[in-house]
Amino acid sequence: MATITGAWAAAPAPSINPGGIVNAASSAPGAPVAPGSIASVYGDFLLSAPSLALTVPLPLSLAGLSLALGAVETPLFYVSGSQVNLQIPWEMAAPAQASLTATLADQSSAPETVSIAQFAPGIFTVNSQGFGPGAIQDSSYHLIAPSNPATAGATVILIYCTGLGPVTQQPPTGAAAPSGSLAWTTTKPSVTIGGAPADLLFWGLAPGSVGEYQVNALVPANAVTGDAVPLVLSIGGAMSNTVQIAVQPAIADQHANQLLTQMTQDQKIQLVYGAGGPVTNIFPLPRGGAGWVPGIPALGIPDLYLADGSVGVGNSVGQATALPSSIASAASWDVSEAYKYGSVIGAEMRAYGMNVNLGGNVNLIGREPRDGRTFETKGEDPILAGKIAAAHINAIQDQHVIGGIKHFALNDQETGRTTADVHIDERGMRESDLLAFEIGVKDANVQSVMCSYNLVNDVYACENAHLLNDILKGDWQFPGLVMSDWWATHSTVAAALNGLDQEQPDDAFFASLGPAISGGQVPQSRLDNMVHRILRAMYAAGLFDYPESPGPVDTVTDQAIAQEAEEQGAVLLKNGGGQLPLNAATVKSIAIIGSHADIGVLSGGGSAQVTPTGGPALREGYPNPPGWAQVIWDPSSPLQAIQAMAPGAAVRFDPGTNAAAAAALAAASQVAIVFVSQWTSEGMDLPSLNFTDVIHSPPIDQDGLVAAVAAANPHTIVVMENAGAQVMPWLASVSAVLEAWFPGQRGGPAIANLLFGAVNPSGKLPITFPASVDQLPHPVIAQPPDGTTPFPVDYSEGFSVGYKWYDSQGFTPLFPFGFGLSYTTFVFSSAAVVNNMAFAKPNFQVTFNLTNTGSVAGAEVAQVYLAFPASTGEPPKRLVGWQKVFLQAGAAQQVTIEVDANDSSHPLSYWDVNSNAWLIAPGVYTVYLGNSSSGASLITAGTLQIGS
Ligand code: BGC
Repeated sequence: MATITGAWAAAPAPSINPGGIVNAASSAPGAPVAPGSIASVYGDFLLSAPSLALTVPLPLSLAGLSLALGAVETPLFYVSGSQVNLQIPWEMAAPAQASLTATLADQSSAPETVSIAQFAPGIFTVNSQGFGPGAIQDSSYHLIAPSNPATAGATVILIYCTGLGPVTQQPPTGAAAPSGSLAWTTTKPSVTIGGAPADLLFWGLAPGSVGEYQVNALVPANAVTGDAVPLVLSIGGAMSNTVQIAVQPAIADQHANQLLTQMTQDQKIQLVYGAGGPVTNIFPLPRGGAGWVPGIPALGIPDLYLADGSVGVGNSVGQATALPSSIASAASWDVSEAYKYGSVIGAEMRAYGMNVNLGGNVNLIGREPRDGRTFETKGEDPILAGKIAAAHINAIQDQHVIGGIKHFALNDQETGRTTADVHIDERGMRESDLLAFEIGVKDANVQSVMCSYNLVNDVYACENAHLLNDILKGDWQFPGLVMSDWWATHSTVAAALNGLDQEQPDDAFFASLGPAISGGQVPQSRLDNMVHRILRAMYAAGLFDYPESPGPVDTVTDQAIAQEAEEQGAVLLKNGGGQLPLNAATVKSIAIIGSHADIGVLSGGGSAQVTPTGGPALREGYPNPPGWAQVIWDPSSPLQAIQAMAPGAAVRFDPGTNAAAAAALAAASQVAIVFVSQWTSEGMDLPSLNFTDVIHSPPIDQDGLVAAVAAANPHTIVVMENAGAQVMPWLASVSAVLEAWFPGQRGGPAIANLLFGAVNPSGKLPITFPASVDQLPHPVIAQPPDGTTPFPVDYSEGFSVGYKWYDSQGFTPLFPFGFGLSYTTFVFSSAAVVNNMAFAKPNFQVTFNLTNTGSVAGAEVAQVYLAFPASTGEPPKRLVGWQKVFLQAGAAQQVTIEVDANDSSHPLSYWDVNSNAWLIAPGVYTVYLGNSSSGASLITAGTLQIGS
């Protein structure tokens, strides 16, 4: 170019280097930049000294230099002879090309083309120009560095970056982001650390800064560790530069690693199986319970003492508080009540020196309501079951006892349980049985998972790589140990390689791990990983930091909780003509009939059986099947509690073994209360959904008994002590029905309080009661051909379990899921749906007024169900949220139930088999609100439009 000199010579013009604009954080040449973000421009700007903007809003001119993108001037942070840092104005269109010019003393540079994209993420590093140390910090604003590493699973890191696109509260160009309220990006970024996805706590503009974004991320528990672990952020399909951070193992992992280095091979192998079972039979179990893993005193590793604990501390540990059934805890629909329930188990485990709880049964018995273990479970809905189980587990682990969840997975029938080969498709299991486990793993950080007896898609659950390695340890990042159900291990090599960490209760297979490792069939690293998982579970639950402290059981507190749990979980199913509550002042005579109601209440059998405090009221032999479980009646007399409630009434008892005698007593009484009971146990399924006496020979015909009593007395009330769904051929002829479940050893007073209205019933069914077995997905339970050959159990209903099944078939059940009466009435009104799905934390809210329109105080469980767009193929509706609300008589309250799209229960997602991920489908969703899953009890709260 010719140079003009002399008097007419113009001042020299600044120039921009070709490609001289880069994202200020990532500095990648040629990469686009995004509106609102910070860029660096290189060139010759003809300035002899650098200048820095000292105030915000940023100036558009510094030291006489200004830059413009098209016609829009850019705010400037810094200018020097060779570099300018500027903000790309929020007003720029994206995607687009714009021309950048620099102007000094009226002389403009040649334009340089700049690519503008909506997202152009860059992470600031310690090496970035203009941004010194501190690019990635811990929450105390200390730079993460090898001398200050982040801790896996514990440290929240602050990632400073730019180019993350639109935000919710966009400040004017050049102005600082608000400090008082947060501006979130409208698209959620994702961050991976060492390849593992990190949970994000905040993503948006760094408060008080211009063009700088901040992402707060929890370093994942399973992140790779080291001084230079790669971290990358992506948003809207664009990926940032990769930066490196120092990560140290989680504290529990650090301790486990440290111990591992000190252990011999024999010591390691000692920890991966239980001692003292009947196969090895080397030792008696020192503290009773279900299992024992001797520790290594020289290394300070304590013994593991394992006990069942679904409904109280089980096995032969000692007398413990017999809580009501776990399904009664679920029927409270109240996670804080469930936490109290779990705290009794945790405290009593600890009092007995037991430190591994084998509870947490979340098998979805709605598939098979005749399952003998229904009383241990939490009902048919995976979200309700998962949340209740998580509350139990959290309470147990808060007592420094390793919590458990079981039986993983799809162990939904006891018939042929060790050879049942469950066939189910991937989406079916992810959206049903597995979802309850996923919630337990994520919400309760459960430390132990028990794999089940059965096969899943032709592979035994305890050597099922898809269940254990891909899903549990892979997708859900479960860091703890997988232990086998008792004698559910089938191999050494396959079990070890496919995810089993501890064989229970014997060493039949894992004693051979030594030869399998020296023979090269199992890598040493796998044994180390098994031991690591066991030790880290012990650390995480506090077994090292809170050494055992056996002591007395706080019986008074625990029994009060047992009673409260029953009072909150019992479900009033029928109350014709206001039969209940009984009036203690006016009732003159009461006939109590059946089920040993003079002395006790029934409990469920098997490994969950609790020996109640004070000893059983009655033991009644070993029904066959299962043959090995005894019938135990807990010591709590409904008759005495009822008499105490109505001291002026003549309360008389008839055992119910002779229907005519019972009817005669009923006829001579003002009110008849018939107690019907259905014993069930691990190791058996029920022959039918009718009340079937499996205890006595000859059996008592309880359905006939109720019919005879009802015919003799129009004021017949039935109290049911049972595990789950029942059919009731006599329903129309009785005036009231109370579902008491197995009520636990404070069942008597709880039942009396409910019958007399000292407590207003508020439980809701966590399981549908079908009208007949014909409505079940499988009217006939699949039977094994023999004791050893796997036989198919085809879960063709997939995720359509419980109410989803009845809805999809158009069946009207006897009582719907979520149903339960009260002595008062509630009205839902002014329901509305607020759609926050475009928010940084996508959610929707259901707001409504709830009014207690009756004359007594009570609690209602407001339930939110969602109907998905038909394109998803989801069931007609899914429970996605609920809240139990207590209201005084006549009181009203505005209630908001928020459903968080990112919750562990995936309330708005379906499992997409193509991408192997939970996805939210665009479309119109209908939100229902009411007090049961039945269409008749639901109102449409509104619709939710997701996507366009
Ligand atoms: C049951 C488990 C129980 C174990 C130990 C097995 O029979 O299936 O639920 O934890 O025994 O008692």
